[in-house]
Amino acid sequence: MSNLLINTRDQQFVLFEQLGIEKLFEYEKFADFSKEMVLMMQNEAEKLAVNVLLPAYADGDKEGCTFKDGKVYAPASFHEVFKKYVEAGWLCATESPDVGGQGLPIVVTTACVEFMFAANYAFITYPGLTHGAARLIEQYGTEEQKKKYMYNMYGGKWTGTMCLTEPGAGSDVGALKTSAKRLPDGTFSITGTKIFISCGDHDLAENIVHPVLARIEGDPPGTAGISIFVVPKYRVKDDGTIGEFNDVRTGNVEHKMGIKGSATCTLNFGDEGKCIGELLGKERQGMRIMFLMMNSSRLQVGMQSLGHATAAYEHAVQYAKERIQGVPVWDMKNPDAKAVPIIQHPDIRRKLLWMKSHVEGIRALIYFTGLCMDLAKVSTTEQEREKWHGLVELLTPICKAYSSEKAQLVCSYAIDVYGGYGYCSDYPVEQYFRDCKIASIYEGTNGIQCLDLVGRKLGQRKGADVMNMFSEINASISKLKRIEDLKRHVAYLEEAYNALIDLTMHFAQLGKSAGFLMPILNATPYLEILGDVIIGHFLMQAAGIADEKLNAIYMERGVEESKGKKRALIHEYPDVAFYYGKNAAARFFAVDILSTVKSRCEAIKFGERVPIEMAEESFTY
Ligand SMILES: Cc1cc2nc3c(=O)[nH]c(=O)nc-3n(C[C@H](O)[C@H](O)[C@H](O)COP(=O)(O)OP(=O)(O)OC[C@H]3O[C@@H](n4cnc5c(N)ncnc54)[C@H](O)[C@@H]3O)c2cc1C
Repeated sequence: MSNLLINTRDQQFVLFEQLGIEKLFEYEKFADFSKEMVLMMQNEAEKLAVNVLLPAYADGDKEGCTFKDGKVYAPASFHEVFKKYVEAGWLCATESPDVGGQGLPIVVTTACVEFMFAANYAFITYPGLTHGAARLIEQYGTEEQKKKYMYNMYGGKWTGTMCLTEPGAGSDVGALKTSAKRLPDGTFSITGTKIFISCGDHDLAENIVHPVLARIEGDPPGTAGISIFVVPKYRVKDDGTIGEFNDVRTGNVEHKMGIKGSATCTLNFGDEGKCIGELLGKERQGMRIMFLMMNSSRLQVGMQSLGHATAAYEHAVQYAKERIQGVPVWDMKNPDAKAVPIIQHPDIRRKLLWMKSHVEGIRALIYFTGLCMDLAKVSTTEQEREKWHGLVELLTPICKAYSSEKAQLVCSYAIDVYGGYGYCSDYPVEQYFRDCKIASIYEGTNGIQCLDLVGRKLGQRKGADVMNMFSEINASISKLKRIEDLKRHVAYLEEAYNALIDLTMHFAQLGKSAGFLMPILNATPYLEILGDVIIGHFLMQAAGIADEKLNAIYMERGVEESKGKKRALIHEYPDVAFYYGKNAAARFFAVDILSTVKSRCEAIKFGERVPIEMAEESFTY
């Protein structure tokens, strides 16, 4: 029976058959883990997501967050969910047991929490931000700060946020106005307003710890002059108990399109001059430090996108199998023809396959990135560590921006599959669509992610990171070309790959000339193309594995010679149906998406400058 959230068989395929994560368990750091344990944890995560998080999903959306007498209240149902989520140990599952975690590999945790993201993303923002803020303190805090804040945050007693955005400083963080004034005891008096702060105030925990970006008086303008401070809602006494209010006031809670159960707050620091912050790390290192949290949050936004997309897809498939409407196209002229489930209509099948291929490709991309993070941790040489870490850095904007753009389309198609019902709140797909949209905006808009990719990531370590990704794809192509059944489809991947390399080289040359604006102008289509080729590579790699597995099953059953008998096995063996699906997703993606890459690359190389040159007046007249 499907959980209507995730195809768990696909999760297991990516983890074990495609990425071979068992290799991690050979390292001392992860020697306590095994495939059986991962399957068990996955099962536990699924149960928690389906039985605890999911029932509060629509409820949290309807109730939303309440702002009354200066206080914020999270949806009532989130209280029990938060308690159970923390008790189950997911808040800091990847952290070391020394700080209360379970030391789980990131790739394993990613697969487990995918259930939570799919079941109730608005809820996940609370533990997600708490984990990220606690990690900042773990990495950059003093022993005293760790003792004071970190353990209570990892333990879910207190929660955390990230405070960057201000009314005049959104994408341009360097324009922030929040200030920090030195106090004689070494702490700082913080004054300023932060807006759109997720989980900025609520009643799920007794204290909230805010990492806040601010400029120490006299420090230079721009990002170079920014420092980061730990600012609790309530001060913490020497014995660890909660002390007086720290002058962090909530000005407002936003009324939003989606993720309504997640409290998005305006926070006023130091209205009465009594807000005390402690410096985290060194002065003027605020941006560098906050990047640790921002990068992991960007990967979480990728997870959010995957969560919404997989749930929307699973619901759409189920609905398409049940909804009876219209006669089959091949029987249209028959007045006695019976209406069929809409999954039999070619246009619906095409939409579903588009959704399936993107969901599965994004899953492989995100799990692969998680695996790279684990491999960076266990690397024995600096060179190896740099390779895996560099791949994570390169893939971060793609996980964030590509996944969120495509997830919105998946959710939109899910509504189309439901027809008019999809647009109504009786079915969950309209909520997935609304909740999904924010993923392209926060944690650095997708526009900014694309600029990060072409402006920084492509050239980082003299292009070594992007070349490492290209080598992975190239190795796949060489191997897959030998599979007769996939030859024509792999040719599309190869053509797209060659066009992408050519465009990347073209960008590198333009970067040194007056044409440097062209990569900036085309950063968004470039990220989409790179994403398409990477996803195409993962899908095709999966199809190659599926091909091998299918052939082994055919041989065992003695049906190698008969196409009809092979297909008949689909009804007998769930695995045959699954591998057929993997093969179909890759072939569809190759023909529908990869076949267009070469012309899209050529269009960029054409060098059209009209968006830059057009007069502003012409946008309206
Ligand atoms: C629900 C929600 C939750 C949020 N949670 C948090 C949080 O927890 N903490 C936090 O600090 N912030 C949070 N934010 C804020 C979010 O990160 C910002 O909204 C986002 O960074 C964009 O800033 P902005 O809204 O000021 O838009 P702007 O920066 O004004 O951008 C508007 C548009 O212009 C584009 N643009 C801007 N500058 C450039 C440029 N140089 N080149 C090209 N294009 C550009 C952007 O891509 C965007 O499309 C949240 C926002 C929302 C809505």
